[in-house]
Amino acid sequence: MDILQKIFQAGVVGAGGAGFPTHIKFNGVAEYLLVNAVECEPLLETDKFLIRHKSKEIIKTLEILARQMKAKKIIIGLKKKNTREFRALSQAIEALNSRAELHLIDNFYPAGDEQILVYELTNRQIPPGGIPKDVGVVVCNVGTVVNVYEALNEKSVTDKFITILGEVQNPSVLYAPIGTSIEACIEMAGGATIEDYNIILGGPMMGGVIEKSQLNEAVVTKTTGAVILLPQNHVIFKNKQQDLVQMINRSRSACIQCSLCTDLCPRNLIGHPLRPHRIMRTLSIDRQQYEVLKEALLCCECGVCELYACPMGLSPKTINGEIKNLLRKEGVKYSNLPMQKEVHEMREYRKVPAERLLCRLDLAGYSDKINEDYITIEPQSVKIPLRQHIGKAATSIVEVGDVVEKGQLIASVNEGDLGANIHASIKGMIKEVNGFIWIEAGEKVVME
Ligand code: SF4
Ligand code: SF4
Repeated sequence: MDILQKIFQAGVVGAGGAGFPTHIKFNGVAEYLLVNAVECEPLLETDKFLIRHKSKEIIKTLEILARQMKAKKIIIGLKKKNTREFRALSQAIEALNSRAELHLIDNFYPAGDEQILVYELTNRQIPPGGIPKDVGVVVCNVGTVVNVYEALNEKSVTDKFITILGEVQNPSVLYAPIGTSIEACIEMAGGATIEDYNIILGGPMMGGVIEKSQLNEAVVTKTTGAVILLPQNHVIFKNKQQDLVQMINRSRSACIQCSLCTDLCPRNLIGHPLRPHRIMRTLSIDRQQYEVLKEALLCCECGVCELYACPMGLSPKTINGEIKNLLRKEGVKYSNLPMQKEVHEMREYRKVPAERLLCRLDLAGYSDKINEDYITIEPQSVKIPLRQHIGKAATSIVEVGDVVEKGQLIASVNEGDLGANIHASIKGMIKEVNGFIWIEAGEKVVME
């Protein structure tokens, strides 16, 4: 079996973000192989933990992937402040005589946005609406590289390292089987410290929000990076309580067209024709400018405009997200947009300092509290979603009553599909197949 087949069989997808299937990403050639090791979102610790504990596995795998892609350079993007991780990677590079280079960058947000990272590490501008391969680059993150290492050693993606923090007794890194309930994760972290909390799955800027009342529906997936518990009245949740009409009405009455949202927009600063203040103006008073709304397709929803820049507390990011959904339903593509401009001359001075962002979000009190050791969860049951990422859902190949071993293939896609196989994350009996596969460990399960 070749490398890509092993990655496909093991069901590897991007360990963060949209979860793009990895066997497709690494199919073809690229000049640069870049590794996103900057841990983009504030508070998260998972990637740094992996670097400290699996640096040799990471470097070894990067060499294999670079050979596969005929990449001339391997560059790992890391923040200057992360000195322990720098040491771990440097030692691994030396021990393995690797050609991987470490590129240190400032502690700004969103350093890990793919388009921003490519510019920082290579000085190449991805065209608006383009992908890294357009400029000869493939980007992967640390968690994905670790999963590829496991895949090359015949181990499927069955578990996930995640950070759990915020209002929990013991902020920690957890090692949880895919499909573990978020409730079980909270229990393993010692439980919540407050009664009225909501949950962010992912980072505080871009993660999805789960209300406490929906807790029983949420599980760990292949793309879950973090679980953050915050008080229900926290500033991060305020926009979630408004619908689109309310947001537009507020913009109409309160947007002062100061253009700070555009001035600090990271995509605008690297030369993309994205102007959130123009989108806000168009929605509020100038609805004939349909072309301007298409700029929303270039928005990565980093949240800088909404949670950092806007002095009026408006919601350009959330509005852009809604516009993107509507335009995609209409089949509108990025390609209709004008070409990019030069990188903004003030870009260096307009980067958002991550420390300042933490204070602005009232999250500084939750940083640097993670225990060094990780906790392994062994749940009694898991509910593994058949759709966990971008692309096609997997099709179940098991039935209720089947007994499965950990690591056994339970749902599959065809090799050419934009999708990924799914494997049992615990040993047990199939209880239900219904958009997810429910496996119950139970003491009575006997393997034949
Ligand atoms: S920063 Fe806020 S007030 Fe200023 S233009 Fe943007 S949305 Fe309007
Ligand atoms: S969320 Fe706002 S700041 Fe971020 S890319 Fe979109 S428009 Fe720009």
